[in-house]
Amino acid sequence: MKLHCKIQGCTNKGYITRGMCYKHYRRWLKYGDPLFTKNEMHGMVNTKIYYVWCQMKQRCTNPNHPHYKDYGGRNIKICDRWLNSFENFYVDMGEKPKGLTLERMDNDGEYCKENCRWATRYEQAQNRRSTILSPESIKRIKKMYGLGLTPMEISERTGFNKTTMDNIFYRRK
Ligand SMILES: [Zn+2]
Repeated sequence: MKLHCKIQGCTNKGYITRGMCYKHYRRWLKYGDPLFTKNEMHGMVNTKIYYVWCQMKQRCTNPNHPHYKDYGGRNIKICDRWLNSFENFYVDMGEKPKGLTLERMDNDGEYCKENCRWATRYEQAQNRRSTILSPESIKRIKKMYGLGLTPMEISERTGFNKTTMDNIFYRRK
């Protein structure tokens, strides 16, 4: 009786059925292929959503990525559920809608289901700008307000979103 799984690279021991460990035997039973997960991944490699997942990981974990400094370099993390599982990411976010990109609603928060949505680049830019409000910007916004523009009009002209306006006019008096 063989004690090792016949799948190359597998070091699982213990109960062996048809030459396979429990994990690989289960996959073979269920999908007809002991390496199902791997094959499934290859099937997704050329999809947009898989590319999104890869790029997210690259930005956060690869110091050689051109945008690493804005992500991993800022300690932006990926939740455990997504970090090592494309399937989980895919289940949570679904297909990538055309023209939209993955956005973290809290720009300082991590990549996770609760903090992510699909957004247009314009929405993303608005969200990002809301977090880098400088004293000069506040001065400029208050001046526009003084000239009679409504917060909505100022928002449209400056690109800062409505939450930012609320912060300036209703919370920081
Ligand atoms: Zn095995």
